[in-house]
Amino acid sequence: MNARDKTRPSFPFSDLQAQYRALKPQIDARIQRVLDHGQYIMGPEVGELEEALAARTGARHCVAVASGTEALLIALMAVGVEAGDEVITTDFSFAATAEVIALLGAKPVFVDIEADTCNIDVAQIAGRINDRTRAIIPVGLYGQCADMDEINALATRHSLVVIEDAAQSFGASYKGRQSCNLSTVGCTSFFPSKPLGCYGDGGALFTTDDALAQAMREIRVHGQSGRYHHTRVGVGGRMDALQCAIVLAKLERFDWELQRRREIAARYDSLLRGVSGLQTLAQRGECRSAWAQYTVLVERREQVQSALTERGIPTVVHYPKPLHLQPAFAQFGEPDDNPVSRRIAQQVLSLPMSADLDPDDQAETVRQLVGALRARA
Ligand SMILES: *Cc1c(COP(=O)(O)O)cnc(C)c1O
Repeated sequence: MNARDKTRPSFPFSDLQAQYRALKPQIDARIQRVLDHGQYIMGPEVGELEEALAARTGARHCVAVASGTEALLIALMAVGVEAGDEVITTDFSFAATAEVIALLGAKPVFVDIEADTCNIDVAQIAGRINDRTRAIIPVGLYGQCADMDEINALATRHSLVVIEDAAQSFGASYKGRQSCNLSTVGCTSFFPSKPLGCYGDGGALFTTDDALAQAMREIRVHGQSGRYHHTRVGVGGRMDALQCAIVLAKLERFDWELQRRREIAARYDSLLRGVSGLQTLAQRGECRSAWAQYTVLVERREQVQSALTERGIPTVVHYPKPLHLQPAFAQFGEPDDNPVSRRIAQQVLSLPMSADLDPDDQAETVRQLVGALRARA
C-alpha cells in the first residue's frame, strides 16, 4: 500500500462506518422489519419517529419530510411566504437556507455574522426589517444555536415568524431548551453527515402550533387534506419508512454520541488554545452545541489545508463563500456587503469530528495542524 497517497486521507473526516458497526444489529433489524411489512411510504416508522423526536425536543408536533431543504421549503409555504416577501437570514450558511426563499419568489436578505461564533449578528437584524419582511431564518451553524431569544423578541415586535434552520443543531440546547423547539417552526436534516443522520435524505419540521402542523402535513403530500382532495399547493415531500427506521435505530446511541462529540470538541479546544495563527470559535454560555462540525479560523487557509491533506488529515471548508457572493444569489446583495462573512469564509477550516473519532487520530490532527501553521509562519 502506498502510505503517501495524497488523495486519500488516512482516517475518515466523519466515521459513519464505525457508527454502523456499533449499531449494526439494531439498524439491520429495523430495516428488515420495513422490508417485511412492505409499507415503504408512510409506514409505521414514520409516525414512530415523529413521536420520538417530538418527545425529545419538547415540540408538540414533528413532521418527517424528504430532506432538510424540503423542511425549510414546507415551513415557508406553511407560514404563507409568497413572491415579493422578504425573509431575513444569515449570509454564512449552506445554500439550502437561502435557496428555498428564492424558490418561492421571495427575497433572501443576507445579514452579516458574529466573528466569534459565525452565527447571524442579531444586532444587525432590526435595520433590515421593512413592510415586506415576513420571516427570519436563523441557522445554528456548526451545531450552536443563534441567539434565539433576541431573535424571537424582535420577531414578536414586528409580527414575523421565526424558522430555525437546525439542520446542524439537532441535539443542541439553548437556555436549557432543545434546538428545533425554540421558535415558530424548527427544521432539521438527517443527511448522513449531520449530527443525527440517516442513509440517504431525510428531514423534519417541529412546531407547537396545531394549525401550522396540519398545514405542514398537507403540504408534505401534495396539499391533500383527504385522499385526492387537494386543498392547497404542496410538494412530494415525504420521508420514506426505511430512512425513518434508520434514524430510529441511531437514536438509541444519540445521547452517547452527543457526549462524545462534546468531549472531542473540549479536547480540541484545550489543545488548540493559544496556538498562534489559529482561532477557536466561541461557545455562548447559554448554548450547548451538537458539534456538527469542529471549525477553526486560520490565516492562509489554502496552504494549511493542503499541508494537512498531504499528511493524510481530512479537513473540509464550510463554506468557501458567503451566500451573497454565490452567483445564484448575487442579485440579492452587493459584492462588498457583510465584511465579516467575507473574511470568515476565507478562514474557516473544519477538522475531523465524529463520535467515533480515534483519540490518536485527533492528537495527530492537532500535531499536524500546529506543524502546518508553524511552517507557514
Ligand atoms: C444540510 C443543511 C441543509 C439542507 O439539508 P438537506 O437534508 O441536505 O436538504 C439546510 N441548512 C443547513 C444549515 C444545512 O447544513
